[in-house]
Amino acid sequence: MLKPNKAHHFRDDFMTHNIRFAPSPTGYLHEGHLLSALYVWAMAKLKNYHIHLRIEDHDLSRARNEYIDSIYEDLEWFGFEWDSESKQSDRHEIYETALKKLNKENLIYGCHCSRKSLSMENPSSPDGEVIYQKHCLNKALPITSPNTIRLKVESTLIQWNDLRLGFFEENPALQCGDFALKDRLGQWTYQFAVVIDDMEENIGMIVRGEDLRNSTARQILLMSLLGKTTPPLYFHHSLLYDPQTGLKLSKRQQSQSLRAERMNAIAPEEILGRLCFKQHLIKNKCSISLNDAILLFSKQIEGYLQQK
Ligand code: GLU
Ligand code: ZN
Repeated sequence: MLKPNKAHHFRDDFMTHNIRFAPSPTGYLHEGHLLSALYVWAMAKLKNYHIHLRIEDHDLSRARNEYIDSIYEDLEWFGFEWDSESKQSDRHEIYETALKKLNKENLIYGCHCSRKSLSMENPSSPDGEVIYQKHCLNKALPITSPNTIRLKVESTLIQWNDLRLGFFEENPALQCGDFALKDRLGQWTYQFAVVIDDMEENIGMIVRGEDLRNSTARQILLMSLLGKTTPPLYFHHSLLYDPQTGLKLSKRQQSQSLRAERMNAIAPEEILGRLCFKQHLIKNKCSISLNDAILLFSKQIEGYLQQK
């Protein structure tokens, strides 16, 4: 438990909510996921959160059962424990209810732009994301597949604070415009499913990689349109980069999977030690237990929180 004199820096509900680890089963977990998990478990330890494991299989065309199985096997092999779990593919009704609510308030519309016309007719953000210019807004297209369902995004400044990176003021209308909630195939998008889940699962603290930092303002906006005016707290951690390519680790680059290391009988403590060393949390490469690794990450997080 936190000592009372340490708690006053934070919102009152800092300790009363859940935190989540939310991998997508579109490939095997790699070291970048392990880094995320360590930050999540470390924050949970520091602030006494309940840990929720969410399988983000909203993209049914890419999710595979063998990847889901492997998420469980990898996490259990390292010794991670969690308090509750959910899977997005079980939650269709919940997303549908939220979508109906937005529709009642006239906040969504159908769009039949093709992938090609989207990229040709719209500007894009510095990281290559389409900023949709409301091309289909007034066409009254059906809000069913094969049309995409989009959210009407008014120009609004969203202010939010990252516990590591500091204050942000961003306008989703300029970052992405009317973003998609359901895609052409009728699949829920990441942005929609994650927001509904974070609200429904009472997530008070979001710890994830800084590659998702850009999604935060639009997620806060969507939450507020659905009635949640106090957003969660956010902590975006730094990413791991492949020393050979300089690119962030990702499944698409076939990064060395944790599963492959498990199959090669490498000890989890060796992997944890390697990661702590890379993160400059220990001076010499050595094996380290999960508990000790979580403790080292907790200390690092504590350092960031004290700077705020
Ligand atoms: N499912 C996402 C991923 O694996 C994480 C989503 C989130 O933390 O908001 O990258
Ligand atoms: Zn369109």
